[in-house]
Amino acid sequence: MSFNKQTIMIVEDEPSLIFTLRDTLEIEGYRTIVAEDAGKALEILKTRTPDLMILDVMLPGKSGFELCKELREMKLTFPILMLTAKDQEADKVTGLNLGADDYITKPFGVKELLARIKAILRRTENQYGRHISRLHLGDAILDLDNAVVRRNESENVLTTREVELLRYLAARANKPVSRKALLQEVWRYEHSTTTRTVDVHISKLRFKMEPKPEEPRYLVTLHGVGYMLKITP
Ligand code: CA
Repeated sequence: MSFNKQTIMIVEDEPSLIFTLRDTLEIEGYRTIVAEDAGKALEILKTRTPDLMILDVMLPGKSGFELCKELREMKLTFPILMLTAKDQEADKVTGLNLGADDYITKPFGVKELLARIKAILRRTENQYGRHISRLHLGDAILDLDNAVVRRNESENVLTTREVELLRYLAARANKPVSRKALLQEVWRYEHSTTTRTVDVHISKLRFKMEPKPEEPRYLVTLHGVGYMLKITP
């Protein structure tokens, strides 16, 4: 299902390496976005959030280190895998200190790269909610893997967007989530998306999962803030 594809952003200026990375990752089932320098990466990040970034240290203009530091200062938390040169051992430490999750030394083999990426995504997926396959809310079971809500004898099918929305909220259960964050992370600012779109989806979800949709117990509105998925043990 293309919906579940994870997106990897490649920040690298060397055409042959871009080609190899893109090819390797796409064959493996990832979606890719390429930025040839830090400026382009920042521009893309205004509208899209990758699941992981492969970031080369040596870039024209702003270096990979500078970009890494900046992204963390901007509170962008997606994992970053730095590409470092073999003769610069100190780079590894610098990168990790600046907020990178891991590094790989050039030249590297495709297998090693994929193994690293998978390991990082496994480590970090909790914060993105992908591991959440099922939620029990009162007498409702939200089966996210099978995109269905079951209550008593009834079943309501969830759309892929609703599943994504629920996973996002569930990963931040009992914490307020702004409409803006939902637009950015769940809708990725696709055109024609407005805060109204978010509200409509929330309302539809309530009809599927709330005992009394007009008085939501779980998917609550926080006025002036956004929404929160309340999960009480
Ligand atoms: Ca480079």
